[in-house]
Amino acid sequence: MLKVRGIGKRYNKDKWVLRNINFKVQSGEFFVLVGPSGCGKSTLLKMIAGLEDITEGELFIDDRLANHLHPKDRLLSMVFQNYALYPHMTVEKNILFTLENRNVSKALRHDKMMKAAKLVGLEDYLKKKPGELSGGQRQRVALARAIVSESKICLMDEPLSNLDAKLRAQMRVELRQLQQRLGITMIYVTHDQVEAMTMSDRIMVLNEGHIQQIGTPLEIYNTPKNKFVASFMGAPA
Ligand code: ATP
Ligand code: MG
Repeated sequence: MLKVRGIGKRYNKDKWVLRNINFKVQSGEFFVLVGPSGCGKSTLLKMIAGLEDITEGELFIDDRLANHLHPKDRLLSMVFQNYALYPHMTVEKNILFTLENRNVSKALRHDKMMKAAKLVGLEDYLKKKPGELSGGQRQRVALARAIVSESKICLMDEPLSNLDAKLRAQMRVELRQLQQRLGITMIYVTHDQVEAMTMSDRIMVLNEGHIQQIGTPLEIYNTPKNKFVASFMGAPA
């Protein structure tokens, strides 16, 4: 379970980018953050991951105050907008890297790597380096890395945005099935209303650093709390 209480963010004493953010994500839940460009989605994810300081408020992971926990101790994996792959390593090594310090046999690590690679359709690209892949293929390497780590909490920031429409539709379904099968707690950022509506258990709509509404896809669609939610999520006001 992950809980955010009164969280706010200010970069360099500038204006507040996020303010008074409160929500809880249950374990095994697929929680989607949506909102226009610049509303603070990536900032929120980075604070949860420990890549940005939390200016005010509290973050709890499994009832433990996590504001100052090292990113490695937060038990989560992430796929970010600018997914960082190791350019000198093959696809196979990029995926295996995540498992390096685990107390698991080499054979089992290879097995897990193969499973993750197959899941994202990369089994024929294992010996390639990131520079030899398309943007979409690189994105799938990043997904495979998140999957292979088997973290209980997964943070994803627009992980499907570089894929073509057909692959995106396929990956939506596969990612959702995988998340359910593994019982992963997912916090997932997207611009795509279809993704938000079809993949999520609940959606949080953000605008200008403030929560507009939190609810199931049906609630958001049928009873939008304000005009912004209605127009952003494409439902009549
Ligand atoms: P997008 O959908 O375009 O990715 P976003 O919702 O993820 O947008 P953020 O990246 O969280 O938005 O940015 C929120 C605000 O914080 C923006 O006004 C942005 O300019 C500002 N911001 C983000 N990162 C920094 C930083 N490192 N220093 C200063 N300001 C920043
Ligand atoms: Mg962003």
